[in-house]
Amino acid sequence: MKISKRVQAMDASGIRKVFALAKELKDPIDLSIGQPDFMVPKNIKDSACHAIQTDYNRYSLTQGIDELRDEVVSKLKNKNKISACRKNILITSAVSGGLSVILPCILDHGDEVVIFDPHFVGYKQLVLLYGGVPINVNKRFDFSIDFNALEQVITQKTRAIVFNTPENPTGHVSDHEEIRMLAEFARKYDLYVISDEIYEDFVYDGEHISIGSLYEKTITVGGFSKSHAMTGWRVGYLCAPDDLVNEMVKVQQYTFVCAPAPFQYAAIDALHTDMSDFVLQYKKKRTTIYDGLKDYYEMMQSGGAFYFFIKYPYDPEKFIARCMENNLLVIPGNVFSAHNTHFRISFATTDEKLHKAITILQHIAKEV
Ligand code: PLP
Repeated sequence: MKISKRVQAMDASGIRKVFALAKELKDPIDLSIGQPDFMVPKNIKDSACHAIQTDYNRYSLTQGIDELRDEVVSKLKNKNKISACRKNILITSAVSGGLSVILPCILDHGDEVVIFDPHFVGYKQLVLLYGGVPINVNKRFDFSIDFNALEQVITQKTRAIVFNTPENPTGHVSDHEEIRMLAEFARKYDLYVISDEIYEDFVYDGEHISIGSLYEKTITVGGFSKSHAMTGWRVGYLCAPDDLVNEMVKVQQYTFVCAPAPFQYAAIDALHTDMSDFVLQYKKKRTTIYDGLKDYYEMMQSGGAFYFFIKYPYDPEKFIARCMENNLLVIPGNVFSAHNTHFRISFATTDEKLHKAITILQHIAKEV
């Protein structure tokens, strides 16, 4: 069977391994989950049902319904300090759909895209799919950006830096200084910054800062998958210079066509729904995990998202096997990284499961 080289270059083996691990366990304590454990709030579900019942079921405009684009403009202005107007906004099939229309617009074959290591699995694979070359730059031990390492990988072919705060899988939240330095760096080399802000609502200390408020060549991507638990509805947005948006509309027109129309209407309600109680619950969960594990593992406090990226206390394979034997599912860090030094846990689960997981992890940390 002939398969294109671009697709052959993509690799799903890391994630497949996790699925295979999950299948082996019966009713596991599952800390591998990358989505919230709360449900979509009722008013948003009602709004989606209402949109379907009132026949908003056809194609929408490729760029998304005007009402939602206008709401996104206000949200970016008020919350992210990004000034934009409707023509800067494209409603996408969630963040993955956003990345899938951005990359073909900015990459020619062989162009390089800088990706921090560790990183969300999709970045590398999508860059490969669109003919680009992903260039890994290791984060520092505390998951902040190593600007010396970044400087060393820039070439004539570098087009963009993919940036994610709060970050999957580390929980790192970039502060104002780090973001200012990144903006300055990108300006110096005239690079796009693709800023994935999907976890922006999950910040536990300090505040979320959008690099798009400081740097004009930023493509800000966001969505509702994590903030409103709408992972299955596939709605998100991006904000970019209008010339670029026009090109991305062309790509969306022939690929996704539009984001799911009824859920675009529901997304308007989502933007007006206060989710801070859920975030507060997650803040408590991250404190529970940190207090329970910090004396047993080398780990940074998680500042955001719902993850910890924790150093293996001993041989990774042995450690993962011990987790499995205790019916505990975590994700090996090499799924997100060229290195195999850490594992990821998600705290988007019940307190009961978190307490059980802490007891197990405390126990197996000592079994060197
Ligand atoms: N970006 C990051 C950092 C993620 O962690 C995820 C999902 O886990 C995505 C993007 C994909 O999100 P969406 O459901 O909006 O496509």
